[in-house]
Amino acid sequence: MKIWQEMLRQGYDDMKELQEKLHIPDEEMKQLCEIQEKFPMYVNSYYYSLIDPDDPGDPIRKMSVPSLSELLAGGHKDTSGEQDNTVITGMQHKYRQTVLILSTNQCAMYCRHCFRKRMVGLSSEETAKYISDMANYVREHEEVDNILISGGDAFLNTNEILRKYLDEFIDIPHLNLIRFGTRTPVVLPQRITGDNELVQMLAEYGKKKQIYVVTQFNHPNEVTEEAKAAVRALLEAGIIVKNQTVLLKGINDTPEILGTLLKKVVSIGVIPYYVFQCRPVQGVYSQFQVPLRDAYRIVEGAKALQDGQGKCIRYVMSHVTGKIEIFGDLEDGRMLFKYHQAKYPKDQGRIFAQDIEADQCWLP
Ligand code: SF4
Repeated sequence: MKIWQEMLRQGYDDMKELQEKLHIPDEEMKQLCEIQEKFPMYVNSYYYSLIDPDDPGDPIRKMSVPSLSELLAGGHKDTSGEQDNTVITGMQHKYRQTVLILSTNQCAMYCRHCFRKRMVGLSSEETAKYISDMANYVREHEEVDNILISGGDAFLNTNEILRKYLDEFIDIPHLNLIRFGTRTPVVLPQRITGDNELVQMLAEYGKKKQIYVVTQFNHPNEVTEEAKAAVRALLEAGIIVKNQTVLLKGINDTPEILGTLLKKVVSIGVIPYYVFQCRPVQGVYSQFQVPLRDAYRIVEGAKALQDGQGKCIRYVMSHVTGKIEIFGDLEDGRMLFKYHQAKYPKDQGRIFAQDIEADQCWLP
């Protein structure tokens, strides 16, 4: 068994195992156990080791261990219309040039802020049955120039299944690049540093077509020596590593914390890319969403602390109509938005202003 598999095996999936370790009062346990029935909990032993057990507000703890606020009513299950965009089991085609593959429903830990919290999707093995169909779809759609193999977490697939995806897609001439969506550099870096076969495979296929890893660092405490080594291994294999951060209340919602995070990811060779507005997802929004006006100020404050690399970020929301950049706060109570990617061609690049209430967190 490889070290990362051992770390997954040693993880926690039951609040009862954590009660004593994290000093959780008896009176909270009944409700927390109810939450884990609805929204499963899992935290692997590496990511758990980053938690300060004596700090109930520890950011790693908040991102991985259930809290009572997940019980608050409201919110949606599918905020970006994923169900409507499915073209083949496990594959979505929302934007003209990009297809998204939900390759597995497994993750190396279950983020409490996950917008796929409803845990849709099939297992790696079930989805893998459709890889050839997916590749045929892409072959027939020459407008598609990139694929994002995500999940769950793409690197929770076995190396054998990952090779199958690469074998099928690598020679499609109109594909410019292949992206893998994985939090393993952050939450289980040993998946990369402890599995030479994976890194060699990425290096081998990356010679034929550029491979990107898109990951998600959300807090400076996640940028550890282990994470740095994983990123280094990917960079040395010729892989480009980009970061998408989710703006999360109580985790990174100050210019200083977000600014430090951006600086730290840049320092280890990761390109900051998007800051995402947290989606109004059931069991998530009440705990983690920051109002748009405040969030805009936080992102601008964090940007002011960066050099040119850190300033590359765009603050966006993944709306049902497209990826919308939030890029201005006017004095008359309106905010400015721009379609960065649009589901409908008529919206591409469209700029619009909209009245935004002080506590508003999402566009209708
Ligand atoms: S790794 Fe990604 S898909 Fe998995 S729980 Fe976290 S945010 Fe959701």
